[in-house]
Amino acid sequence: MDKNIFYRSIPKVDILLEDERIQNAASIYERDTVMDAIREQTEYVRGLIRTCDEEETIRREIDNLIPDIIRRVEKMHTPDMRPVINATGTILHTNLGRAPISREHMARLAEVACGYSNLEYDLEAGRRGERYSHFEKLLCKITGAEAAMAVNNNASAVMLILSSMAKGGEVVVSRGELVEIGGKFRIPDVMEQSGARLVEVGTTNKTHYSDYADAVTEETKAFLKVHTSNYRIVGFTEYVGIDDLIPLGQEYDLPIIEDLGSGVLIDLSKYGLTYEPTVQDSIRKGADVVCFSGDKLLGGPQAGIIVGKKKYIDKMKKNQLTRALRIDKFTATALELVLQEYLSEENAVNKIPVLRMITKSAEEVEKSARRFKRMLERKGLKAAITLQKCESQIGGGSLPLERIPSMAVGIRPETMSVPELETAMRHLEVPIIPRTVNDTILMDVRTIEEDRMKLAADELKQIL
Ligand SMILES: *Cc1c(COP(=O)(O)O)cnc(C)c1O
Repeated sequence: MDKNIFYRSIPKVDILLEDERIQNAASIYERDTVMDAIREQTEYVRGLIRTCDEEETIRREIDNLIPDIIRRVEKMHTPDMRPVINATGTILHTNLGRAPISREHMARLAEVACGYSNLEYDLEAGRRGERYSHFEKLLCKITGAEAAMAVNNNASAVMLILSSMAKGGEVVVSRGELVEIGGKFRIPDVMEQSGARLVEVGTTNKTHYSDYADAVTEETKAFLKVHTSNYRIVGFTEYVGIDDLIPLGQEYDLPIIEDLGSGVLIDLSKYGLTYEPTVQDSIRKGADVVCFSGDKLLGGPQAGIIVGKKKYIDKMKKNQLTRALRIDKFTATALELVLQEYLSEENAVNKIPVLRMITKSAEEVEKSARRFKRMLERKGLKAAITLQKCESQIGGGSLPLERIPSMAVGIRPETMSVPELETAMRHLEVPIIPRTVNDTILMDVRTIEEDRMKLAADELKQIL
């Protein structure tokens, strides 16, 4: 195959610019963007000629050069961040944006964020205010803590706490609690960044009270407990709970910090889940400072929430790092709204999407699944539609062993393979992300909101 013929058949830039379709694009969009698209696409085709040995593929790419250039220009002007339908059954899916925010809260958020707001303005006094003031009182009331604040996420909360309370000193932590969160984020590395030295005690499976006590030196600034969010050590194990550490803290006058990870504010065992220690528990037992994520089980925006003794929180508010880690008006607004729901547990469970999905009963899920199945059947899809029992999971590094009985609609396509259908679903305008089990596409209904089902059915009709 003479590749030079192919190289020569790529039109020169000035020729391309004379094409009517390109001129049309240049009149709608910026010429600059069109030029970039021409350069990128011709570069791509040249690369393909260099590496590909299938004449037909190369010819097709050359024939499609102009439509592909225009597609590139259009793509630049189409937002890439978009809503997707989560049919995986994983409620806190970190890749899919973790906790969804309720529509009601979003409407309020849009109102606040579109214009000016009192983010840092005290309307009573008519002077500068604090961005935490909008939700600090709520957090104190709900958790029983003296003071509260929030930063960008929980990883930064851990860093800020250690930097404010233990910089240049030592922090004692159990070897069984040196967590790696997703995305290669490791507690020991976060600690190092904070300027505190990590003193590991105990072993992976067992840490005793005496391990903590023996590790105390002149340099010790705090004890740190880390919730082993995304894994469990079972079997021959022993760990020291917050309540057991309190006397030790008192003896040496050292604060106890707890990174709770998920930040549960209600007793989930009432809803059939495994009991997960709540923030209130930690505060009641005497933890000096507790931090947790805003967008895990709390069900709010991405944030790292810090609650605890006022003297420590005040120190954090003054730390220079806080400026770098501070939350914006979106987070401050959304946090206040979600925390307000917690004033009544019933409200929280019904109105916060994450809690609503977690606590939805098996019967309710089955009803939704039957409804969704009927919708799909009415569309006359070229596929076998079934109902299948399945299990949802919490995800987001929370309650890793928990499996919630759920119901999925199974789809076995008749005109394409399962991987082809899965790819087509990902390329829909509102992409649908399912699970594939035993050569069937499973759409777990627990994570598909009722108001998205019609859209999902319409979209599936387009491809089946
Ligand atoms: C998830 C988690 C974090 C990190 O929280 P982000 O809000 O994702 O930064 C830190 N510590 C623990 C124990 C966690 O589970």
